[in-house]
Amino acid sequence: MKTPSQRSVDPASIEMLTRTAAENIDTAWDRAEAQQPQCGFGSLGLCCRNCAMGPCRIDPFGDGPKEGICGATADIIAARNLSRMVACGSAAHSDHGRDIAHALLLAGQGSDYKVKDEAKLRRLAAEWGIAVADKNVSQLAVEVARAALAQFGQQDGELAFVKRAPTPTQKRWRDEDVVPRGIDREVVEILHRTHMGFRTFSSAARLGCGATRTWAC
Ligand code: SF4
Repeated sequence: MKTPSQRSVDPASIEMLTRTAAENIDTAWDRAEAQQPQCGFGSLGLCCRNCAMGPCRIDPFGDGPKEGICGATADIIAARNLSRMVACGSAAHSDHGRDIAHALLLAGQGSDYKVKDEAKLRRLAAEWGIAVADKNVSQLAVEVARAALAQFGQQDGELAFVKRAPTPTQKRWRDEDVVPRGIDREVVEILHRTHMGFRTFSSAARLGCGATRTWAC
């Protein structure tokens, strides 16, 4: 077992790891060491369990299988696994934003939640093209909250906060036709297009992957 100073260079972490070791409390470091070596297929992103026919494992080096049961290749499995992790992360973080939008809506509707920074609310409203003149804080809170919640179900166009990205990044996204249209829509579409039944993504142009449309079944 590694010592606390072998596990981390951060003084606070070393102090905590010394304490957990003294009190026999398991940490992520203990559990990681207990699993060595980790699964080589999983580490390479070449294990797929997207459907009940799996799990399928691709052998990138030897004479083992080069395709999953559905016909997915190593590139497809790795790309799908990465895309699905991105979708999970997007779902988690965006749902925090959804909660904030709900809280803002409740604040505007007279609950115990209060808007502490009215100037920021007015700035955001103006940024999103919401008229701010002659509106009190409650009215604005409701309008901004409803506009924010609408971003989740939006089907077309671009998310409002895309304009906050650096200009070259926005251009790259538009050139590749990957600007997010709606928060929930993109998460759902990734899960759909990476599920069994799709050997590749059905819109190669949208994902900029150069893959062709191919059906597995
Ligand atoms: S989606 Fe394809 S590669 Fe993945 S588990 Fe199912 S059959 Fe195997």
